[in-house]
Amino acid sequence: MITCQGKSVFSGVAIGKIFVYKKAENTVEKYQIEDPAAEFERFKAAQAKAITQLQALYEKTCKDIGEEEAMIFEMHQQLLEDLDYVESIQGIIENDKLNAEYAVFVTAEQFAAMFIAMNDEYMSGRAVDVKDVSERVISILNGSQVSAEAMPEPVIILAEDLAPSETVQFEKDKLLAFVTQKGSANSHTAILARMMNLPSLVTTDIELNMEYHDKMAIVDGFTGKIYIEPDEVTMAEMKEKQKRAEERRRMLQTLKGLPTVTKSGKHVHLYANIGGVEDVDAVLENDCEGIGLFRSEFLYLGREDYPSEEEQFEAYKTVISRMAGKKVIIRTLDIGADKQADYFNIAKEENPALGFRAIRICLERVDMFKTQLRAIYRASAYGKASIMFPMIISVSEIIRIKEIVEEVKEELRQNDIPFGDVELGIMVETPAAVMISDQLAAEVEFFSIGTNDLTQYTLAIDRQNQALEPFYDAHHDAVLRMIQKTIENAHAHGAWCGICGELGADMELTRRFVQMGIDELSVSPPFTLELRKKIREID
Ligand code: PEP
Ligand code: MG
Repeated sequence: MITCQGKSVFSGVAIGKIFVYKKAENTVEKYQIEDPAAEFERFKAAQAKAITQLQALYEKTCKDIGEEEAMIFEMHQQLLEDLDYVESIQGIIENDKLNAEYAVFVTAEQFAAMFIAMNDEYMSGRAVDVKDVSERVISILNGSQVSAEAMPEPVIILAEDLAPSETVQFEKDKLLAFVTQKGSANSHTAILARMMNLPSLVTTDIELNMEYHDKMAIVDGFTGKIYIEPDEVTMAEMKEKQKRAEERRRMLQTLKGLPTVTKSGKHVHLYANIGGVEDVDAVLENDCEGIGLFRSEFLYLGREDYPSEEEQFEAYKTVISRMAGKKVIIRTLDIGADKQADYFNIAKEENPALGFRAIRICLERVDMFKTQLRAIYRASAYGKASIMFPMIISVSEIIRIKEIVEEVKEELRQNDIPFGDVELGIMVETPAAVMISDQLAAEVEFFSIGTNDLTQYTLAIDRQNQALEPFYDAHHDAVLRMIQKTIENAHAHGAWCGICGELGADMELTRRFVQMGIDELSVSPPFTLELRKKIREID
């Protein structure tokens, strides 16, 4: 048995096989081969597998989103079967006696360069496509690809690190836990793990050893340990621990349907944070009173182009309808920093967390912003929607946002498209917003404090950088005073105030937040019943 230690980002016990995930961008090796015919067959097998995957993606997208959006996968299949493309690969394998990965890589580069040289916008787009399908084939060839097919049963993912765009691509029901060598407890991948109810570890002192692949392991999210090939005693102990966690979960079920009020009668709205439509089941199972943060940017991650208005509308409408009249607060696109999508074409920045992100992108790319707002407003006709805007630092931003919102509403009216009464709020997650929270509160109906970013900007500690752990104090008085000031200013100007950062689920602070007068706490769904219990015990 091998035991490794990490930092737990979510408790619970997971037992299952390890899946070693290596990033697709692994450098492509170049080596001589002995048997060109066998090597070409290896390519043909990977090509066939990629085509099957693309066909499955085509069918899934057709069903979930629409035929138009699915066309890209059909086109990718055609590219892979293109005779010139295949002949070029065959030539490199047979004439130069080089390996298939390298032959695919070189061919993709040559084709992309040829498409770009045509100086035509459409053909430049094909350059991206040929590289993309080729990467798929390369990752099948070098075994680094993660697909539902590659994960026949739920697994413990072992990786160096995971970006949010990678994490969203895993099928949720194929996951038991995440264990990473790097990462930080405040990263979006850690947040996703919590939302998905997965015991997970970061900064784990574990090797990324292919020999661990398929080995039995146990992740103990209570102590931050992973046991590889556990002995019988450990297995029995962990099964017992898992049973106790399950009993606690069952006990908490008795709190379903009860109000979240303190003994002295103060009601705190208990809402949930979600990243997509698939999280609504957990929201309903845990009896959350609403959704306090829908991180809409996850709809934009792990894909090759912007989600269309229709696609976004369907997602928002599904969430709003399923919440059946309960509040759903949709945060507009908060892309940037660790949440990156190549197709945004954002120039590389020295300090992306302090860079061109979130509302700044939306206010510069108004058409894209309007597409999202139109989708949300259209969906608002199906229930109770609110919108909040991330990374606000000034009143002028809100004034500009409201102008854009009015334009969107006017366009909808002109086209007789119905929409609901939508409450507007902002995230308070910059020290600037805290300091002018009196002025900002006069402009909006609510505040939601994003303690993840507010802590990073207040303490000048990069939330992604685990090396700064010794300096990090989640309960720093500066942050707590900022929260206090924000709540006071909100109330003084008729706005309500909640917390949607991870600190909202920190039960050592619940009493303090209630004393400060917090109106709402929005947390990952698995925390809600535990938090309700805590609030009901406060007198
Ligand atoms: C926050 O910053 O606290 C927040 C809730 O937003 P995110 O974690 O997505 O940046
Ligand atoms: Mg934030």
